[in-house]
Amino acid sequence: MAKQIKKKRINVPEQDPNARIHNFNEVALGYTWDLAVEEASRCLQCPYNYAPCIKGCPVNVNIPGFIKKILDRDIKGALEVIHGTNSLPGITGRVCPQEQQCEMNCVMGKLGDKINIGKLERFVADEARKQGIYPDIPQVEKKGKKVAIVGSGPSGLTAASDLAKMGYDVYMFEALHEAGGVLIYGIPEFRLPKDIVRYEVKFLKMLGVHVDTNVVVGKTYTLQELLNEYDAVFLGTGAGTPKFLNIPGVNLNGIYSANEFLTRINLMKAYKFPEYDTPIKKGKTLAVIGAGNVAMDAARSALRVGYEEVYIIYRRTREYMTAREEEIHHAEQEGVRFMFLVSPVEFIGDENGHVRVLKLIMNELGEPDSSGRRRPKPIPGTEFGLEVDAVVFAIGQKPNKLLYQEVPELKTTKWGTLIVDEKYRTPLKGVFAGGDAVRGEATVVLAMGDGKKAAKAIDEYLSGEEWPAEIKPASFW
Ligand SMILES: Cc1cc2nc3c(=O)[nH]c(=O)nc-3n(C[C@H](O)[C@H](O)[C@H](O)COP(=O)(O)OP(=O)(O)OC[C@H]3O[C@@H](n4cnc5c(N)ncnc54)[C@H](O)[C@@H]3O)c2cc1C
Repeated sequence: MAKQIKKKRINVPEQDPNARIHNFNEVALGYTWDLAVEEASRCLQCPYNYAPCIKGCPVNVNIPGFIKKILDRDIKGALEVIHGTNSLPGITGRVCPQEQQCEMNCVMGKLGDKINIGKLERFVADEARKQGIYPDIPQVEKKGKKVAIVGSGPSGLTAASDLAKMGYDVYMFEALHEAGGVLIYGIPEFRLPKDIVRYEVKFLKMLGVHVDTNVVVGKTYTLQELLNEYDAVFLGTGAGTPKFLNIPGVNLNGIYSANEFLTRINLMKAYKFPEYDTPIKKGKTLAVIGAGNVAMDAARSALRVGYEEVYIIYRRTREYMTAREEEIHHAEQEGVRFMFLVSPVEFIGDENGHVRVLKLIMNELGEPDSSGRRRPKPIPGTEFGLEVDAVVFAIGQKPNKLLYQEVPELKTTKWGTLIVDEKYRTPLKGVFAGGDAVRGEATVVLAMGDGKKAAKAIDEYLSGEEWPAEIKPASFW
């Protein structure tokens, strides 16, 4: 008898919006074994060489392969399949934009709902963690060569893990006091619990990677010192420098970058002040400028630290927002208010230098700009004020130049991102780079893909491949 197609996807249970805005616990609760098996049973098991989900994944996880192992109730097997190409499944299962990647061309979509691949991947990682299961450590012959990784975000973690599995001695240097990059300091606990990041970093250490925190390369050690000590260096330093608008009043107190706001809350636990000693400004109304994932994270965190009215201020309309649909939906459910077609023109402060009013102007949309999105045009005479207690800028970030400003051989684009070729080589022999430091702001899985390809290129270089006389810029930009 032909297999019966189950058209409806099994959604994961979620915390009630009214309850969750008062806590930092995870919003999506994840599958139970029975729900995971039921969802897994909907997968058509496309063959490995054809499966569009594998092609859509930037790190090419064997998706039908791990789903089959869920059906067999073999959690270690499922974990091993994923770890074949992805050493951070608990993270990617939660924060990847699956709807634009693996799930986009899922064949089940022609017959009913697409398979909930992200939530199944997350299930495997969570169940393995619950049972204390790690993948087997590969026994490899040591190469006798040392590689330094600067930055412990997803690009650095992936490069480190792949190089360790190849037999290199890997040393990772991180400026902050904890490894994980944006995964640990940026993305809030209610989307990505930090224990999950720590568990996946622990596996890296089990692979033999040395993780050295509180080390700022460019200050604690220079890049040249690393080059003297190590056979190759990978720069995965991200894009942690915030952008602001150059408008009057921007330096008033109570105006944060999203990075500072989220770091205070996530890494420094400002919501537990005074138990933890980093405060965050409290008040009634907070405005977030921007409409990407970072803006949603800042707005939803603001609700959780006690702001009653939280606004997203966006200069275009809803369809142009860059945040994932799931994040926008969750923000709406939680009561975040959206103001479209408005741009900030000025901040007005009180006698103590604290921001009190955000002055906005209304826009209309004009012709498309170079990004293909219709350009917002201010409508004269439409200014109005919004009373605020705090403001968060989430309009983008750029790389921090600290590390390479005194290394003239490293070249940057006009956006400040590092120039590399298709093999992630910078113009400085032995130095590779990837992730947001090269792409500007991208995604976790794109950064991981860079780390993976850079690890392969480092291996080729350390196996004798010539360094090119000239670096031809890759087409990341
Ligand atoms: C708030 C927020 C939410 C996001 N949400 C999502 C999401 O839902 N899904 C998604 O796919 N992507 C998301 N992103 C984007 C994603 O997190 C990044 O694209 C990704 O983390 C980039 O990885 P990376 O390895 O290049 O750098 P990062 O994660 O930025 O890590 C770089 C690390 O290098 C360290 N470092 C920098 N300079 C030095 C130095 N000189 N010496 C030593 N260490 C140094 C930094 O401290 C940092 O820990 C989000 C980003 C933010 C900020």
